[in-house]
This record gives sequence, structure tokens and C-alpha cells, in this order.
Amino acid sequence: MAPAAHSPSPAPAPEPRRYDRLFIGGAWVAPRSGRMIRSIDPSTEEVWAEVAEADASDVDDAVAAARSALRGPWSRLSPTRRGELLARLATLMRRDADRLAEVESRDNGKPLRDTRGEVLRAADWIAFFAGAADKINGEQIPFRPDALAYTRREPVGVVAAILPWNSPISLCSWKLGPALAAGNTMVLKPAEQTPASLIELARLVEEAGFPDGVVNVVPGFGAIAGAALVAHKGVAKVSFTGDHRTARKIMVSAADTLKRCTFECGGKSPYIVFADADLDKGLTVATHSAFRSTGQSCSAGSRVFVERPAYEAFAERLAARAGRIRVGMPLDPRTHIGPQTSAEQREKTERYIALGLEEGGRALCGGGRPASLPRGYFVEPTVFVDLPNTARLAREEVFGPVALVIPFDDEEEAVALANDTDYGLVGGLWTSDVTRAHRVAGRIEAGLVSVNTFRPVHHMLPYGGFKMSGIGRENGLEVLKEYTEVKTIVVELSSEPPGDPFAD
Ligand code: ADP
Repeated sequence: MAPAAHSPSPAPAPEPRRYDRLFIGGAWVAPRSGRMIRSIDPSTEEVWAEVAEADASDVDDAVAAARSALRGPWSRLSPTRRGELLARLATLMRRDADRLAEVESRDNGKPLRDTRGEVLRAADWIAFFAGAADKINGEQIPFRPDALAYTRREPVGVVAAILPWNSPISLCSWKLGPALAAGNTMVLKPAEQTPASLIELARLVEEAGFPDGVVNVVPGFGAIAGAALVAHKGVAKVSFTGDHRTARKIMVSAADTLKRCTFECGGKSPYIVFADADLDKGLTVATHSAFRSTGQSCSAGSRVFVERPAYEAFAERLAARAGRIRVGMPLDPRTHIGPQTSAEQREKTERYIALGLEEGGRALCGGGRPASLPRGYFVEPTVFVDLPNTARLAREEVFGPVALVIPFDDEEEAVALANDTDYGLVGGLWTSDVTRAHRVAGRIEAGLVSVNTFRPVHHMLPYGGFKMSGIGRENGLEVLKEYTEVKTIVVELSSEPPGDPFAD
């Protein structure tokens, strides 16, 4: 008898990886609620990891641990030793870059080659601030000849770092490096969509030998752990990266105890191309700027303004290049961009694509889900034309692979269009006229303007938003101001009795 034919059943999904402990006070502790966050791999839509979920009581423990570390061993360590610990952490991150990158790619769907590069750059960030730790000086002020007046830069206290899901390790290093260099202690809350990679980072913090409680990691939901953290009396400062609507809520909550806040929010960044520019280079960078990380970047160049004579050809070439971007699985080394990180984000992007069409726009490429990828939260890179700068697609942040190309007639109009936005994070400018380059760069309302180059986000360069794109600056030595309080001390040097206004 012939054996019964059967179709092969699909391979069972592997058991989710378990991260069942929070990192609090240098110990690995079970969450008090016993609850776990299910982290979905956005390329397969399967739960790939289960991560301990912190609630308000775990946040209390983490803040208490951070406070006692602040007053305890951490405060007695010299700045040079603090820097040494940070340098060790940077070395461990480089050693484990592959493992950290794999976890981050599983959590948020970015291609491995991007996440690996991000981890290595995050190590550079930490190393930069390791070197800065013992160079944070106050000033001596010539107040009067018979007094010594000077300032000290002291740590602010416990810093709550609230992180987004698009680049958890990278954006964590932007906060952790300067906050620890300046002598603060921290509670880190990764986003609920990407809870795993900072647990991996916590293992390296432990291995580096930081005193217990200097860094605490509490994955949790924004409305529970996040809200508890930003309202907590023991937290002195909130450093947040995410949506401006969330920043607004945090500001209201933080107002209660007058917490210091640094916000890095979204953008609708202009990318201005004058017809005299090197259009080939400009095109390569515009494509990268709009679509890298699947558009899930606060600095994405999502509004591309092109001077009229170059407009039509530039838009068509941008669409052609966008159409050649390889959308695929994050762990495949050939992949240029992965899926959106969550089902919600993909729906949001699809809503904006539909809205762009309803508003009268024309998609020169993309506009849908790639036919070859039926599972996963994938969206095709999409280039829109025929929409004015007043369209919602031009005004609201999509956070997906959608760029809009708009023509302009002269420099005045380009500047007016670029600045006609609620945001002000970055701006890109392409021209071969050096005078115009400086003139326009000075007029763009944004925290970072690049001229004839790729968005230079780097640990040495201050970064942050004008307008709704944020408050305060990250990166560069500038950021150290955000993590220190200035104390002024005046010492009387004269042995003369003080003048007594109540003498008679
Ligand atoms: P998105 O909407 O793109 O997910 P969010 O700004 O909501 O971006 O999320 C960024 C971070 O802010 C995440 O870590 C999230 O958990 C956190 N968060 C969200 N809501 C709050 C809140 N009310 N208080 C504190 N943190 C929050």
C-alpha cells in the first residue's frame, strides 16, 4: 500500500525567549505583578520574547535604588573612575555588538546591518562621555577682590530615561553616557514594543562593575511604568525621546515637582534642493534620509523641496531609487529596510498614504504592502507629488517610509515652506552657491542643518529641536549642561567685620 500523502506542516514557532527579571539595585528581580510583556517580531508577527513588566511598585523600588546609589558609593567615586566604568561598558558593547544587534532587530525589525552599526556607534557615544567625565568644570568668578566666588557643576539627581522603540540602544546611550559622566544615577524605561535590548544592555552594565543601583532597567507600559516614573517625587529629571503628545503629558505630570525635562520629539524635516546642487549626490542622500529605518526616524527628511527647473526629474529619480530599495527580513544581510515596528505603526502609515491620495496627491511609487512579504508589518517606500505644503501629509509626522516632493521657485519661497511647520528638528540643504548655503542654513528653524551632506548625527554635535520638536539638547559637550545643576559658592576672604545695617 502506498504511504498516505501528506503536506508538510509548517515548522512550529520557537518558544519565545524569556527575560523574566528586572534590573533593580544591581540585582535581577521578578516583577512584583508577575506580568510579562510579549514582544512581537514585526517581520513574522510572532511573539519572539517575553519580558518582565514593571509596574508602579517596581518603579518605586528602582527609584529608591537609584537614590541610595546617588548618595552612596557613586557619589564617592572620582570622576575619573566614573569615566573608567563608562569606558569599560563601551568596550563590552563592542564585544557583544552582534548579540545586542540581533536582539534589537528582533524587537524592532531594523535590518541587522543597521542595528549592528547603531550598537557600535552607541559604544562610541559612551566612550566619548567616558572621556568627558573628569572634564566637567565649574568657573571661578572675579566677583570682588576680597571674596572667592566659584561655581560647581553637580549632578541633578535620579534621571528617568524614557525611550522610544525605533532605536532603543542608540538613544539610550545618548542619555546614559552624559547622565552618568556627570554623576547622576538612572532608571531606564524602554518602550513596551521593544523591551528586550535594554535588558541585554543591563547585563553589560552589571559586568562593567557599576555600583549597585546606578543604572536600573524597568521595561513597562507608558501609561503604567512610564507614568509612575515621571510622576515620582524621587526623580529629579526626565529625559524623553518620543512623540510630542507624550512629551506634553510628561511635562504636565513633571510640573508637580518641577522636574527638569529634556524632550526630543518628532519632526517633519525639510530637505531643500536648489537646481545648482550636485543632484546625483543630493538624490542619494535624499533617498537615504527619507527611507532609512523604514522612515521610523525623528529626523527623516520627509518633505523634499526641489527648485522648479530640477523638480520633475528629481521626483521621478527619487521614486525610481525608492522603488529599488530592498524591503525584507531584518536578519537577511541583503535587506535595506525592514518592516514597521508594530501593527499600529503600519496602520498609521497606511492611513496617511490613503489620506495623501484623498487629498489629491499622486504616489509615484509604492503605496502598498510588498506582494512578496505577506506576513510582517511591511510597507513599500512611497513617494508623493502634487500635494501642497498645507496638506496633512506635509504637516503631520508619519514615521513611515513616505516622502513628499514639493517644487519651489526661489530662495524666499524655499525658506518659507521649510519653516512653515510645527516642527524644527533637522533641515538638509543642497546647493553649490556657498553664500546661499550659509544664508539659508542660518534661516532654517531647526536644531541641526546639514549642507551638502548626510544628516550629521554624532556624539560630538549638539542635537535637538526647535518648536514642537523638543526642549533641550542632546549630544556634544553641550548636553552636560542638561545633566548638571550649577551651584554658586561665595567665600568671604576679608577679615574686616561686615558692615552692619542694624548698627544704629
Ligand atoms: P509612540 O506613540 O510612537 O509609541 P510614545 O511617545 O508613546 O511613542 O512612546 C515613547 C515612550 O514613552 C515609550 O517608552 C512609552 O512607553 C512612553 N510613554 C508613553 N506614554 C507615557 C506616559 N504617559 N508617561 C510616561 N511615559 C510614557
